[in-house]
Amino acid sequence: MKVSKRRVAVGVLAAVAVAAIATGAAIADSRDKSVVGAAVYGALPRATNVIFFLGGGMGESEITLARYYQQGAGGRLAGIDGPLLTGDVITHSVSETNPALPDYVPDSAATGTAWATGHKTSDNRISTSAGTDLDMKTILELAQDRGLSTGNVSTAEITDATPAVLDSHVRFRACQGPLNMSTCPQDKKSVGGPGSIAEQTVQHGVDVVLGGGKARFDQVIPVGEGSFAGKTVVQQAQASGYDVVTNRTDLIAYNSSKKLLGLFTPVNMTTEWNGTVASPYPSNTGDPAGEQCNTANRPASEPSLADMTSKAISLLDPSTGHGPKFGKRGFFLQVEGASIDKQDHAANPCAQIGETVAFDAAIQVGLEYARTHPGTLIVVTADHAHTSQILDGSEQSATDHSPGLIRKLRTKDGADLVVSYGTNLAGRSQEHTGSTVRVAAQGPQADGVVGTIDQTDLFHVMARAIGAE
Ligand SMILES: [Zn+2]
Repeated sequence: MKVSKRRVAVGVLAAVAVAAIATGAAIADSRDKSVVGAAVYGALPRATNVIFFLGGGMGESEITLARYYQQGAGGRLAGIDGPLLTGDVITHSVSETNPALPDYVPDSAATGTAWATGHKTSDNRISTSAGTDLDMKTILELAQDRGLSTGNVSTAEITDATPAVLDSHVRFRACQGPLNMSTCPQDKKSVGGPGSIAEQTVQHGVDVVLGGGKARFDQVIPVGEGSFAGKTVVQQAQASGYDVVTNRTDLIAYNSSKKLLGLFTPVNMTTEWNGTVASPYPSNTGDPAGEQCNTANRPASEPSLADMTSKAISLLDPSTGHGPKFGKRGFFLQVEGASIDKQDHAANPCAQIGETVAFDAAIQVGLEYARTHPGTLIVVTADHAHTSQILDGSEQSATDHSPGLIRKLRTKDGADLVVSYGTNLAGRSQEHTGSTVRVAAQGPQADGVVGTIDQTDLFHVMARAIGAE
């Protein structure tokens, strides 16, 4: 009911906005004006395609840091700031022992389960229910049921929590490979379970799977654990109709009609940028200028997130590329910029900002596709908030300064800002935080994200867009 009320209220806005954009000079063809306008503002009921962009740990503070550093105070991020309909997302998870009780600071397994299935769960769970361990149907599974192609892309291990919630159901997020099942005995194939996340990813038949985590797929499936026992998960994938690529050159050149598994690093993929980890006062606050980040950290053998997004779209597109070869009429694609979160944990501001900028570039690829494919719903959001804060550099003195870890950076404006990490002790992993996160969307059903919504509402926005609700 909450969703219906919001849709009625936004209908007025959508009508005005459609009229406004229809006069825009950027849209040349008169017939396309209303179609594109209606798509941007959410007035079309059904989507041909859904692209869901998830920034790991990308709270408002992480977005602002990247915007100031890369574009300056007056700038905007062309991807993250692109979609015009925005809202605030409540991210809490629930207690495993008493699911009626909220857990205000969630992890990406529980938050992923929320947007992927429409149900809250407890931390560490992958699309299974808190307390009762029941499998919950995911948006990717619904898309497959409806004849859509599917893709899953991440800069993390592709078996990490965010991509896993779409194509796996296990008790603990740690059960990523066939040799990592010690905390998920009930999910082992030898007792009738579905196996590890890597095995389930292959078994789900996701058309395009791109990311890190090759070491999980190189594990040998133990004796007794299903029909591929004695083989690696890579061999299971090849026997199940997948081509496998392991470097950027082969990904860019790839032009076959088979399903594609791209595994580019043994663990998480390398960050685009790097710099000095934050440290206790005075850190570099006494330097005449803040640090400028090294923006060339990724090896040439690894694709960027934008590379992977572009290839995934070209393979999944229902009208060109390989979409027709998959025999599908549209697609669902998830793209995760995972290491915003991981570098926030590591208190490395340059690496964190570089991952946010790389995520922004991937979103721009999606927006460019949507410009010529107005039936595409684009959603840009985060799983949970995180640690980093922007502090007043002039207030960092011997008597008054942050008790946490700090680092001074010089932005595009030629001004300095101080980034602070203060949710854990120096040398320890900085922690997630509990505030709402941003969502931005455009395309069919996009008006469903406006206002203050729950993370589970995002599932329903996408389910309505693909005609599953
Ligand atoms: Zn995290």
